[in-house]
Amino acid sequence: MSDHSPPIAERLQSLHERIEAAQRRAQSLTPVTLVAVSKKQPVEALRAAAAVGQRIFGENYVQEGMAKQEALGGADLLWHHIGPIQSNKCADIAAHFDWAQGVDRAKIARRLGEARGTTRPALQVCVQINVSGEASKSGIAPADAEALCETVLAQPGLQLRGLMAIPTPPNDGRPPEADFAALRTLYERLRERGFALDTLSMGMSADFEAAIAAGATMVRIGSQLFGPRG
Ligand SMILES: *Cc1c(COP(=O)(O)O)cnc(C)c1O
Repeated sequence: MSDHSPPIAERLQSLHERIEAAQRRAQSLTPVTLVAVSKKQPVEALRAAAAVGQRIFGENYVQEGMAKQEALGGADLLWHHIGPIQSNKCADIAAHFDWAQGVDRAKIARRLGEARGTTRPALQVCVQINVSGEASKSGIAPADAEALCETVLAQPGLQLRGLMAIPTPPNDGRPPEADFAALRTLYERLRERGFALDTLSMGMSADFEAAIAAGATMVRIGSQLFGPRG
């Protein structure tokens, strides 16, 4: 084990305890999946987390993620691409990642689907919602989410899993609870309309407990697990 293992093991354990406590408070039986957001963290940090059982890693930058995948080759890990997706990165994401969580327009869904093809397991997709309606944010407007879900479903290389969002950061003075509740409502509405969604990806280091209280099934946590980004 590397020198990094004890602190990572402790942080991972305390995160799991906080996640489980939030689930108990929410009286939720739905498991919550932890995506360890490892962008800008050294390979050794990922290796240490993997050594104590973390299997799912989230990366925003395609080249950086691919380099880490290569360095950790052989380990049984799952890789989520979690940031905005540029169309010229679709081929690499489709070839090297298991999930794409930032799908926010039809063109990206089509390109990812074509690049993934059908000779390997489908790329797992979350549609990113711009839940706070800010022009500066990535994500599709809630009103257009259903049409984008249809486009994802129409791609044989993709499997639609759910919704993802990044609410307004807490330091804007606006609490994230309203955004989380709005996202949960949209998620339930789409499920009622027949979409087989099982993933509501919301909540980061600063607000994951509030996200779980609102029904998150997946949280994406970076700095609480790995410390500040380099
Ligand atoms: C960086 C990032 C995270 C993790 O942020 P922390 O505040 O470090 O937990 C989660 N989701 C996305 C989309 C990110 O870009």
